[in-house]
Amino acid sequence: MKNPTLPEHLDTEEELPMVVPRSKTRPSVAMTEATRAILQDAEIPHLSEQEMIERIQHLRQQRNAIILAHNYQLPIIQDLADFVGDSLQLSQQAAQTDAQVIAFCGVHFMAETAAILCPDKTVLIPDLEAGCSLAATVTAEEVRRWKAQHPNGVVVAYVNTNADVKAEADYCCTSSNAIKVVQAIPEDKEILFLPDMFLGLYVQRMTRRKLHLWMGECHVHAGIRPEDIIGTLNEHPEADLLMHPECGCVSQCMYALAEGDLPAERTFIYGTGGMVKHVRQSPAPVHLIATEVGMLHRLQKEAPHKRFIPVKADAICEYMKTITLPKLYRSLRDMVYEVRVPEEIAVRARRAIERMVEIV
Ligand code: SF4
Repeated sequence: MKNPTLPEHLDTEEELPMVVPRSKTRPSVAMTEATRAILQDAEIPHLSEQEMIERIQHLRQQRNAIILAHNYQLPIIQDLADFVGDSLQLSQQAAQTDAQVIAFCGVHFMAETAAILCPDKTVLIPDLEAGCSLAATVTAEEVRRWKAQHPNGVVVAYVNTNADVKAEADYCCTSSNAIKVVQAIPEDKEILFLPDMFLGLYVQRMTRRKLHLWMGECHVHAGIRPEDIIGTLNEHPEADLLMHPECGCVSQCMYALAEGDLPAERTFIYGTGGMVKHVRQSPAPVHLIATEVGMLHRLQKEAPHKRFIPVKADAICEYMKTITLPKLYRSLRDMVYEVRVPEEIAVRARRAIERMVEIV
């Protein structure tokens, strides 16, 4: 059967671009303002986990709040959430909810997206400094300069960008709909794709469209290497391999597939939403997961009878993990930190986000 996550023709003739990843100073979450506030709080350090959960349950009713959690959140946060999903699914949930308050357990750009889509709601993030190394690789000013070099270019911004960068984009996309978004753009248009170069390379191969790529990367996904993949695959010949298109190893693994070093029939490239669908449907008893390890909790809940093995056990996003139970409780108790996007930016960013939400 054809593997829908691989290009029609895998050929080793095509040159891999010489990529120099763009690295900026990674935002630190070693001691955030929210962490300090928890340590100094008069109540929180004395509460048990169960007491905090009960208070959160009470507050979510009292405040008419919904808790949204990304797939990479800590298991305890995922278990408390009303909805767990990928960026696109969380945006859709935010846009549809009747709740007055959205407690967004994810990173800052995701909460900004919810605030842009729901200007009449209160969007809270439990730790304002939950950033993203990938989003930090590009600024709005840099996009404006890039566009000036390609005046007829259409800008496709992966959703992992700050709101002012989205405001410069024509379309947003997630890893689950990036291919469809690019396919929806007329063939005669130049496309500027940012900021993830690995996702961009994957989309380029799948659509056979030449893209201008921003050389950004996520430190968690870029840290998963082909040798991690090949080693784990060899140990588990019965397993399906599910690989995120942001992973630094995807391009090299495409070559390994073309060379026959990886089994095309059990190697799949999916965003987190696609991984969930795959494990529900696949007969494989074991799945090897090449993405942030928070995903394993989600998948285990989806398919409790199957075994999930991380390709890299220390693929951990510290920004996602900075959202903790005490911070979620404090967020709902004190209504912190409210995420707001200036209207002039929100209007322009909303256009690009709405195009993303429409193309699924
Ligand atoms: S896993 Fe990577 S892309 Fe996702 S939030 Fe963390 S740093 Fe950003």
